[in-house]
Amino acid sequence: MSILPLLRERLPDDIIVTDADLLASYAVDRAAWARAGVPACLVRARSTRDVQDVVQACIESGTPVVARGAGTGLSGGANALDGCVVLSLEAMNEVVAIDPVERTAVVQPGVINNDLRDAVAEHGLWYPPDPASSAWSTIGGNVATNAGGLCCVKYGVTREYVLGLELVNGRGEIVRVGRRTAKGVAGYDLTALMVGSEGTLGIVTEVTVRLLPARLPEITVAAHFDTLAQAGDAIAGVARAGIIPSVLELLDSFTLKVVDEWKNLGVSSEGNYMLLANTDLPGESGEREARALQEVFDAAGAGFTAIASDQEEVDALFAARRLAYFALERRGPVITEDVCVPKAKVPEMIRRLEEIAAGRGVYIATVAHAGDGNLHPCMPLPADASEELQQAALAAFDDIIDAAIELGGTVTGEHGVGLLKMRGLAKEAGPEVIAMQRAVKAALDPHGVLNPGKVVETA
Ligand SMILES: Cc1cc2nc3c(=O)[nH]c(=O)nc-3n(C[C@H](O)[C@H](O)[C@H](O)COP(=O)(O)OP(=O)(O)OC[C@H]3O[C@@H](n4cnc5c(N)ncnc54)[C@H](O)[C@@H]3O)c2cc1C
Repeated sequence: MSILPLLRERLPDDIIVTDADLLASYAVDRAAWARAGVPACLVRARSTRDVQDVVQACIESGTPVVARGAGTGLSGGANALDGCVVLSLEAMNEVVAIDPVERTAVVQPGVINNDLRDAVAEHGLWYPPDPASSAWSTIGGNVATNAGGLCCVKYGVTREYVLGLELVNGRGEIVRVGRRTAKGVAGYDLTALMVGSEGTLGIVTEVTVRLLPARLPEITVAAHFDTLAQAGDAIAGVARAGIIPSVLELLDSFTLKVVDEWKNLGVSSEGNYMLLANTDLPGESGEREARALQEVFDAAGAGFTAIASDQEEVDALFAARRLAYFALERRGPVITEDVCVPKAKVPEMIRRLEEIAAGRGVYIATVAHAGDGNLHPCMPLPADASEELQQAALAAFDDIIDAAIELGGTVTGEHGVGLLKMRGLAKEAGPEVIAMQRAVKAALDPHGVLNPGKVVETA
C-alpha cells in the first residue's frame, strides 16, 4: 500500500498536510543549494505515538521519513526526499519537567532553544548550548545536529548536556536510552551516538538535559585589528595567557562591511577584523579577566579596544555578530561552511580562505567561533549568479574542505554532514571508518527509511 492511505488509517486527518505550497516550504532547510525532493506529505506529530505510527507506516511501505525541527539547518539534513514523509516535531513543544535539585529538564523535541532557557531561568538554572539560531531552532534539531554555539568555547556542545533520550527507532519501537542520574555507564553510550545522527538513526521524541546554575552577567571586550596576523596573534594570545573566555568570536572585514551597509553600526570603520570576547567570572575576577583580555588584544596590535559590562552596551557590541548571517543573505543565497581547525591554525585557515576567494573569484565572508577554531566562511551569491560563478563557488566550497582537512581539522564543527558534507566526511574519515559508520546505520535502521542518503551513503 502507498504511504498516504496507510497514514490516513492511523492518524487524525488534521495532522496530515498535502498542500503543495506548504510542502514546498517544508521541503528545504536553510542550506542554499542543497538538493531537495518533493515529499508525499507532511505530518505534524502531536505525540510520540504519532511519531511511531508514521515510522511504522514508512517501514511497511518502504517510504523515507525526514524528521524536521525548525528547518534552520545549514547542511540540507532536513531537506525532503522524493516521495518521503516530512515529519515535523514542532508541535511537540512542551517543557515536561524541570528538576531544580537534580538540575535536569525533560523536554519535547519541538521546544525552541530560547524557550527552554527562559523556562529553566525561572528556577535559577541555565541550559548552556547557545547556537546563534537559538531564537528559532528546536531542541530536537539541536540534539540531532549536536549543535554548538557561542559559549561552547567554555561550556561545550549539546552532547555534553544530553543525559537521556526517548526515541522511535528504526524498527518502529519507542525506546529510552541514557539516564536521568548524574552518573551512569550501563552499556554502550547510545545517547551519545544518537546526538548528532541527523535523523538517520532514530526520531527523538523526548530529551532529558543537564542544567547548570544560572550564569552571572558577562563582561564583553571588543577589539579591532587592521591585519589578520594581529587578530590571529590575539586569538593565540588568549590561549597563551591561560584565559578561557565564555565567548570568543571573530568577524572579518567583508562581514563587517555588509553589516554596516545594512545597519550602519560603524563596525567596519575601526579596523578590518573584530574580536568579541566575554568573561563570566564573578565580581573582581571578571573585571581582572576582562582587563587581561584587553591587554592581550593591545599587545597583539589592536587599533581599538573597549570593555562593556552594561547589558545594553554588550548587546550593541554583539549586534554585528547577530546580524552577520542575515546581512550576508541580503546579497543572495548564502553557501555556509562550517570547518573546524586546531585553534593555533585559525590564522592560517583564514589566510587560505583569502587565497581561495582570490583564486576562485568569489567573495568569502568569515564569521568564526574563533576560540574553538570553528569557522563559518560564507559565500553569498546573487540569485541570478551566472553558471560560471556558481561553479566557482562550489569549487571554493571543496577547496575550503580540503584546506581544513590538510590543517588537521574537520569538515563540520557543528552544522552536521547532511547532504553538503558527505564528500568531505568520506575524505576526512577514510574508507574503513565510513564502513563502520555504514554498519551502524544498517544495524539501527534495518529498513533504510530514516533520512536515507544523508550523512553516509548506504548501498
Ligand atoms: C542564522 C543561523 C545561525 C546558526 N547558528 C548556529 C550555531 O551557532 N551553531 C550551530 O550548531 N548551528 C547553527 N545554525 C544551524 C542550525 O540552527 C542548527 O543546526 C540547529 O541545531 C538546527 O535545528 P532545527 O530545529 O532547525 O533542525 P532542522 O534544521 O529542522 O533539522 C536539522 C537536522 O536534525 C534532524 N532532526 C530534527 N529534529 C529531529 C528529531 N526530533 N529527531 C531526529 N532528527 C531530527 C533533521 O532531520 C536534520 O537532519 C544556525 C543557523 C542559522 C540559520
